[in-house]
Amino acid sequence: MKDEANKVSEKAFASESGDMNAADFRRYGREMVDWIADYFENIEQLPVLSQNEPNELKNALPKSAPETGEDFADIFADVEKLILPAITNWNHPNFHGLFSTSTSAVGIFGEMLSAAFDMKAMLWRTSPASTELEEVVLDWLRQIMNLDAGLKGIIYDTASVSTLHAIAAAREGLNLRIREDGMSGRKDLPLLRIYTSEQSHSSVEKAVILLGLGQKSLVKIPTNERFEIDSIKLREAIETDKKYGFLPFCVVATVGTTSTTSIDPIEEIVPICEENAMWLHVDAAYAGSAAIVPELQSCLKGCERADSVVTNPHKWLFTPFDLSILYCRHLDLLKKAFSLVPEYLKTNETVTNQMDYGIQLGRRFRSLKLWFVIRYFGQTGLQTRIREHCRLAKLFALWIEKSEDWELLAPVPFALVCFRACPKDVEDLNALNEKLMNAVNESGEAYISHTKLNDNFTLRVSVGSIRAEERHIEKLWNLLNEQLKSLKK
Ligand SMILES: *Cc1c(COP(=O)(O)O)cnc(C)c1O
Repeated sequence: MKDEANKVSEKAFASESGDMNAADFRRYGREMVDWIADYFENIEQLPVLSQNEPNELKNALPKSAPETGEDFADIFADVEKLILPAITNWNHPNFHGLFSTSTSAVGIFGEMLSAAFDMKAMLWRTSPASTELEEVVLDWLRQIMNLDAGLKGIIYDTASVSTLHAIAAAREGLNLRIREDGMSGRKDLPLLRIYTSEQSHSSVEKAVILLGLGQKSLVKIPTNERFEIDSIKLREAIETDKKYGFLPFCVVATVGTTSTTSIDPIEEIVPICEENAMWLHVDAAYAGSAAIVPELQSCLKGCERADSVVTNPHKWLFTPFDLSILYCRHLDLLKKAFSLVPEYLKTNETVTNQMDYGIQLGRRFRSLKLWFVIRYFGQTGLQTRIREHCRLAKLFALWIEKSEDWELLAPVPFALVCFRACPKDVEDLNALNEKLMNAVNESGEAYISHTKLNDNFTLRVSVGSIRAEERHIEKLWNLLNEQLKSLKK
């Protein structure tokens, strides 16, 4: 009996701390890196979309946790057996849905190390490396993007959260004591209004909901035939609202909308915001990365007078999820909106404490992976890749333009193509294109997604994987044409 008990404790407590011992850590660590290298090498043999049925993984797993610790070899074996089939492979070069994103090898190293340090970046004292590296790396990227030096960066997890913080800072700038008194039950507050286009991301509306402004505070301005906000209508809406006694305080413009990557005319919006003392937040979650390429830099023209700009390196800069950057001209307002320091977090250094700039206390050490990525590829390495993605998307768009069976449904400013099949003999094009998308996706050969533009079911092909080559775009083009042919039969 005693022997039995000893044996159990020997296995469960393989090292004195109870954690995995150093020899096993080294061994499995090497195996893990080998596994990841194989995964990348063979990724084209895997289906892009997981072919699992709903609940398939769930039903294959035990209903309760193991009583005693398991061998890591057994756990690891289940990754290949159970987890991998349930993975939709974003790293596959034929992942063209949503915004195609992929990690880079050095990005994975960054994640690995930041997990090892396991810092909770809140105070400078608890995380000097995170606090200072973040400041330096974000300034590097700001320079590469040619953004104004008045914009200081701060990292959040996602663009949704960055935009939430920008709007919170804009509201704080009104000096209406909302932090102290809230918004409910107040007769002295006018209706606050915030403006964005019909094409802007749902995160803007979610932020408005969460900040207690209410959906009725959000005004969605129509867009033109290129899906860009109509700045004349924007100006009119603000003027009308002012006549009603409402308080316009913020515009969220988009550079690279989610549906079509359209670009709102920032230079026309800037004077409207300045004349009305409104905050201009620019959502460049996707297209901000394009601004590292000199000939694409003009997409952010006007941002030198914006109050804040969000860009997501996890979207198109080969940085593993998650890492979003808010560049903000008024970090002081962000701090005023969020800083709250309990006794146990008081320190006396005159330093930046990252917890002061947002809702989270602890933050992950995210700048490390971006530092790796920028240093490893260098500015030219990153530029070459973004350029190549744009070239491939334009090539695909050219094939569409030349074909009788297909048509483009939006301009292609970056690396996303919006189009549909339009064969002459088919009446219900919406139904046809939806079937086409499903057929492509079910094949496992490629993944594409859709949007609705002017009530047209629109196919979207995004090129953004670090592994994307011309042959992958050709493969997709052939696949689309084959599927169209068989659907028309
Ligand atoms: C993807 C996207 C977002 C949201 O990004 P998250 O980081 O997932 O929150 C916001 N705005 C635009 C324009 C986007 O393309």
